[in-house]
Amino acid sequence: MVSMIFSDCSSSATARLLPLSRQHGVVSLSRLAVGRLHVGPPGRCSPSSRTLTLHSSTSPSPVVTASTATEASAKVIDGKSVAKQIRDEITAEVSRMKDAIGVIPGLAVILVGDRKDSATYVRNKKKASESVGINSFEVRLPEDSTEQEVLKFISDFNDDPSVHGILVQLPLPSHMNEQNILNAVSIEKDVDGFHPLNIGRLAMRDREPLFVPCTPKGCIELLHRYDIGIKGKRAVVIGRSNIVGMPAALLLQREDATISIVHSRTKNPEEFTRQADIIISAVGQPNMIRGSWIKPGAVIIDVGINPVEDTKSPRGYRLVGDVCYEEACKIASAITPVPGGVGPMTIAMLLSNTLTSAKRIHNFQ
Ligand code: NAP
Repeated sequence: MVSMIFSDCSSSATARLLPLSRQHGVVSLSRLAVGRLHVGPPGRCSPSSRTLTLHSSTSPSPVVTASTATEASAKVIDGKSVAKQIRDEITAEVSRMKDAIGVIPGLAVILVGDRKDSATYVRNKKKASESVGINSFEVRLPEDSTEQEVLKFISDFNDDPSVHGILVQLPLPSHMNEQNILNAVSIEKDVDGFHPLNIGRLAMRDREPLFVPCTPKGCIELLHRYDIGIKGKRAVVIGRSNIVGMPAALLLQREDATISIVHSRTKNPEEFTRQADIIISAVGQPNMIRGSWIKPGAVIIDVGINPVEDTKSPRGYRLVGDVCYEEACKIASAITPVPGGVGPMTIAMLLSNTLTSAKRIHNFQ
C-alpha cells in the first residue's frame, strides 16, 4: 500500500497513512432473532447522549436502545454491540443444533505464508469460532508452498463432512493464482461468498446466493437492525472492490435502493455522494469524505479501516475511517464509528455463515 499524507480532520495536525494489509475475510448473516440488548455509550460523535432505538430484523418492535450523541450530531451505529448480540444468538443456535442432531458446525481456515497481520486475523477467527462453539480447523502452509498443495487441502476440506465452511486467508503469495484457489472452494462451503457463482447469483434477479460476502452483508445488517429504510432511497457506494464495494452495491440494489457507484475514475465524486440518503464507503483513504460531501440527514456506513500516525497513542498510530467522522457527525443522521462499526460485524458474520452452512447441509431448521 502506498504511504501518503492526509489531512486529519479531527485535529489541526496531519496524519500519515501507515501500511496495513487487508483482511479479505467476509461473512453472511442469516436473519436470526434479536434478543434484548443494552448498547453502551456511543463512539465519538459527542460526549452527551440521547436514545436510539434498535430493531430486530425479524420484528418491527424496538428491542434495543442505544445511547447516541446530541448537539446536531449523528446517532452512532454501534457495530460492536450488534456483533456481540449476533455471536450470542449463534452460540444458542450451535448448542441447539448439537443437542438436537449431534452436529457441530466446523470452519476450516487455510493460511499460506507468514504475514503477521494474516496470522492475527486467522487467530481471531479461530478464537471467535471457539467462543460460540464452532469447531475450527486450521492449516498453515509455508510461503513457498505450491498452488497444488493449497488445492489439495481445499479438496480435502470440500470432502470432509465435519467442515461446513472453508476460508482461504487473503492475500495469497504472489506466485499463486487467487482465482484458481477461490474457485476450488465448494460453493456449498464458500462462507466468504467469493465464488463467482455466489456473486453471479447475487447480481441476478430471482436468484439466491448460498453465501453473501461478509463485510457488505454486515453493512446491510446494521441498516436493518437500526431500522433504517433502504427501499426507494438514493445510495452511493464509494469503492467497487470484489469483496466490499461491488457486493454492497448489489445488496442495496436487491433492497430497492437506487445506486451510484463512485470509484477512482469518477469525476466530482462529492456531487454523487451529496445526493445520497445512504453512503457506504469502502475506499481505504483516511478522512476522504468530508462534511461538505454529505447530504443533511444521510446515513453513513464507513467500511474503511485506515491506520494513521498518532504520536499520542501508545501504539504510535490509530485507526480512522474513510469518512471525516467529526464533520460527518454534524450533518449525518446516523454513522458507524471506526473502530467499532463495520469491523466487528465481519467475524460475527463469518460465524453466522458457517452456522447457516451447517444447518443447510444437515437440513436443520
Ligand atoms: P480496494 O480493493 O483497494 O478497493 C478500493 C476501492 O476504492 C476501489 O474500487 C477504488 O477504485 C476506490 N478508490 C480508491 N481511491 C479512490 C478515490 N480517491 N476516490 C474514489 N474511489 C477510490 O479496497 P477494499 O478491499 O474494498 O477495502 C476498502 C477499505 O475497507 C479499506 O480501508 C479496508 O481496510 C476496509 N475493509 C474493512 C473491512 C471490515 O471488516 N471493516 C473488510 C474489508 C475491507 P478503482 O476500482 O477505480 O481502483
